[in-house]
Amino acid sequence: MDVLDQKDKDYLLNSVRIINDFPKPGIVFRDITTLLNDKHAFKFLLNHLESRYAKYNLDFVVGIESRGFIFGSALADRLGVGFVPIRKPKKLPYITISQKYTLEYGIDEVQMHIDAFSRIKNAKVLLIDDLIATGGTAKASVELIKQTDANCIEACFLINLKELGGDKILSDLTSVYSVLEI
Ligand code: AMP
Repeated sequence: MDVLDQKDKDYLLNSVRIINDFPKPGIVFRDITTLLNDKHAFKFLLNHLESRYAKYNLDFVVGIESRGFIFGSALADRLGVGFVPIRKPKKLPYITISQKYTLEYGIDEVQMHIDAFSRIKNAKVLLIDDLIATGGTAKASVELIKQTDANCIEACFLINLKELGGDKILSDLTSVYSVLEI
């Protein structure tokens, strides 16, 4: 199934815990550790992502630090492709490429190893993270992938906080799929 029906969306959404005022007052934090902790919900999500992406003939799944690593590496194994981590600065040990992006206050940066896709020419890659809010992190990550010869086929999120509009910004750069929209 390419997209979940409402009953299945409600099932997954109910497995994600809400923590109010974390990490600061006013933020409604979506805690995906409760989904991971529930073996049925975690498998259900991976079954869905595997069936959606099996026909995309991907070469790599790229996960954004840090919750994107969890979903991304599990999905990469299901699809039989390699996994690439995108990390915050000074975490990756080999030569990196970087993309800076603007936050509400200040500048942040994402990095990836320079040879992340070098095994395959013009690799087809899927970007994945747990949640898209303003879209800043995901946009910088797609721009980082675009610095290489790889093609970002789609950016996938478990949750899209729709009213923040990140998905709209990102859709100028790549196709966007969110399992759940809030
Ligand atoms: P943004 O760059 O604004 O789209 O923020 C996305 C990143 O921040 C993702 O890696 C999320 O894990 C995290 N994030 C932002 N808002 C929330 C939230 N309300 N609940 C959980 N994680 C969040």
